[in-house]
Amino acid sequence: MGEIDHVQLVKETEIFKNCKNIVVGKGNENADILFVGEAPGKNEDEQGIPFVGRAGKNLDEMLSKVGLSLNDVYIANILKCRPPENRDPLPEEIKKHTPWLLKQINDIKPKVICSLGNYATKFFLARGDVDAMSLQPGITSVHGKVREMDFMGLKIRLIPLFHPAAMIYKRDLLPLWEKDMEIVKKEISQRALF
Ligand code: URA
Repeated sequence: MGEIDHVQLVKETEIFKNCKNIVVGKGNENADILFVGEAPGKNEDEQGIPFVGRAGKNLDEMLSKVGLSLNDVYIANILKCRPPENRDPLPEEIKKHTPWLLKQINDIKPKVICSLGNYATKFFLARGDVDAMSLQPGITSVHGKVREMDFMGLKIRLIPLFHPAAMIYKRDLLPLWEKDMEIVKKEISQRALF
């Protein structure tokens, strides 16, 4: 079987036809830490760069709180194109967009993956099996719980985190999010990744 053309698969989805840019990722491709969000929003679609809007501002703050910069991490999304009106990703879209993410993971070979929000977290907990995502626990019950796992032949530590966009409208999550950041910090320092 030939190599899957991950770009072609994305182009086959309806959301590709309606987006301005494919949003691939940003940061250091040699980083040990990968952050995975859900999908580009309006600003990301316009600029072709992930996490540049309000959620991005929260993510930047979170990174600097734990002493990380874009030089230390790589940031990507489950979907590479913006769904209309920022609606939730559909299983068929996740199936066609994540081969690109899997290629990124295989190239970067991160040691730690921070999954941001429900979709990214369920994707990793289901070991990339999109049909099994609905069987996975939600972010509210697994946030901040570090799991060592084998993901597509790669030994990773998964740290599920609330999505930085959730922090915009659910201020009561802030203390939990701050506590989770301490876990990220501990995880990074313990492992002496840099
Ligand atoms: N939310 C995401 O999940 N990803 C982005 O790139 C921006 C907002």
